Amino acid sequence: FFRSLEQHGIQLNEAQIAAVRHTDGPLLTLAGAGSGKTSVLVCRTAYLLSVRSVMASQLLLMTFSKKAAEEMKSRIATLPGISESAAAAVEARTFHSFCLQLLRRRGMKQAILGDSGRKQIFFKRLLRERNLHETYQPETLITLFSAYKLEMLEPHELPAKTEEDKQLKILFECYEQWKSEQQLIDYDDMLLAAYRLLTTDQNLLEMLQRRFRYVMIDEFQDTNKVQYELIKLLAQQHGNLMVVGDDDQTIYSFNGARNDYILNFEQQYPTSKNVVLDINYRSGAAIVGLGNAIISSNKQRRPKSLKVAKTQSLSPSFARPGNTDDEAQLIVNKITETQSQGKRGYQDFAILFRTASSSRAIFDQLVIRQIPFIDYGGGESFYEQWVVKPIIAHLRLAMDRRHFDAMQNILATLYVKPEQAMAFIWNEEKQQAKKWPLIHLVRFPGIKEFHQEKIKERLRLIRSLPKLKPEQAIRLLRDGFYDNYIQADKSQTLTEHKDALKETLDELETAAKRFATIAEFLAFVDEIALKLQEMRQLKLASRGADAVHFMTIHKSKGLEFPVVFVSGASDGILPHSSALSASKNSDRSAIQTGDDVAEAALEEERRLAYVAVTRAKEELYISSPGYYRGKPAAVSSFLLNAFK
Ligand code: ATP
Ligand code: MG
Repeated sequence: FFRSLEQHGIQLNEAQIAAVRHTDGPLLTLAGAGSGKTSVLVCRTAYLLSVRSVMASQLLLMTFSKKAAEEMKSRIATLPGISESAAAAVEARTFHSFCLQLLRRRGMKQAILGDSGRKQIFFKRLLRERNLHETYQPETLITLFSAYKLEMLEPHELPAKTEEDKQLKILFECYEQWKSEQQLIDYDDMLLAAYRLLTTDQNLLEMLQRRFRYVMIDEFQDTNKVQYELIKLLAQQHGNLMVVGDDDQTIYSFNGARNDYILNFEQQYPTSKNVVLDINYRSGAAIVGLGNAIISSNKQRRPKSLKVAKTQSLSPSFARPGNTDDEAQLIVNKITETQSQGKRGYQDFAILFRTASSSRAIFDQLVIRQIPFIDYGGGESFYEQWVVKPIIAHLRLAMDRRHFDAMQNILATLYVKPEQAMAFIWNEEKQQAKKWPLIHLVRFPGIKEFHQEKIKERLRLIRSLPKLKPEQAIRLLRDGFYDNYIQADKSQTLTEHKDALKETLDELETAAKRFATIAEFLAFVDEIALKLQEMRQLKLASRGADAVHFMTIHKSKGLEFPVVFVSGASDGILPHSSALSASKNSDRSAIQTGDDVAEAALEEERRLAYVAVTRAKEELYISSPGYYRGKPAAVSSFLLNAFK
């Protein structure tokens, strides 16, 4: 088997071979980036199939993303002695698809509640009913309740000490009840429901335990509680559980990931064999060196040494552009230059960023220059986001008082049902035209007096906008809707989610500041929308095309690219400002001491930086904007420490 692998150009090292050959009993591979963990999983699958004559249906491989699962399957299919049908029969899945399949086969009929906006609408209504709409934003509650689910917490298990606890508990209850009445299930519910199913249906559990003789988990460092318990159940009988991962790459703590599962694996499974992989095959020496230098500052980790196979390599390049818009130009210039010289295709490049809002400038630049790219985040432009859209709509209405779409968008922020209110407005308008059609709304059936006042106030606000600079107008609007809530809500639990909202709004101001007038800014937003639509039609932004990979660092986990751009290597972006402010006001959590929380947040950021730089196979470009959202930003302390 190993000889035929070699003929296929895959020469595994001794440790890798030992892991591949391992058949029964638990096995742990805790190893650094690019050391061939995923490769070992793939080769072991092929080995079990072709040498040990294990049936494909007896293998279960779990991984993190759909893309990773697909890639595993296609890599298995290319290995010697593996028929296409055998490769296809291996269960290589994400936790979600595994759980969903399980539930469906057991007759689960619920519809899937994705990110379609139905949750937002539900919470908007619920909060309004309970007069809490200025206290919580739907989005924050969605994130919070998702975290509860992943910790396997039910509403009745939540604390009810403070007033806020009680409120949140009730809201969580209502949310759960609504989903069950409507026969809806979301992605977090799926995991928990599958777990519950297995713990209650003994026959099913035994059947699965018998079926999956070998269970293998990639990226084990990012498993959360439900996932961990599920795996434990499935592998309980035969104990053939192989897990691979890297505690330095735990980057989903906000999703409940805990690297203690990988660090304590040997305690949980005392008979487990431990295979050490310590050669990085992915990147050149200089890149591996930088990764090691960055991560070595973390205290909460198991020290690992990582040697290098490719000793000849280019050094990482470092640039310090003026701001994020300059940075975007720099990156896109480099890509077009290299591509036009015929040295590389677009698909050889990946651009990584810390947060969606910090990628706004690069996204805009890619669209303006019509560079084919695949947006792993869904392809929505910054200006189409749920937070941004209503603000843009107000600006549009300010410039064009009869703007139909804009008006419709605004109606939801006035707590009226957009379709009905719109129909009413046009009907009134036909009978008696007004300069500002929105004013008809004060006579909309069922509108109370205070609500009429609100509508008039909003109209005054909109009318005051045209004479302002775009960033001033945005400031006024955000004060009107969002900052109210950001300031009113003193909740500690929700701080992080609010940070994201604030960040998006700050970025919107930054984007607008480059334009002298609202009209110019809106023209730019329109240009982006139009070009993006053209690109979609030409399929310049679809998978499989020769296109630049554009994604958050989180999404890049496990992947590799010949050329990687790590953008935003400045304090405040990476490390993210929330981790920096955590170290400043260290009284955020009652459970851990402030210092622990702050340090933990910073270490997670450092792991992100480590993941980012270790994605590069050949070339690595790191850029650090000197100004971020109008304020000076120092070069990321992670880099400075690494170069010390
Ligand atoms: P990550 O921690 O980022 O998930 P990993 O440990 O899973 O990384 P792989 O993706 O399996 O690493 O491998 C990294 C690269 O090294 C891949 O391009 C793979 O083909 C190559 N590789 C793995 N093992 C060997 C080997 N023995 N010889 C040559 N190349 C190898
Ligand atoms: Mg991997």
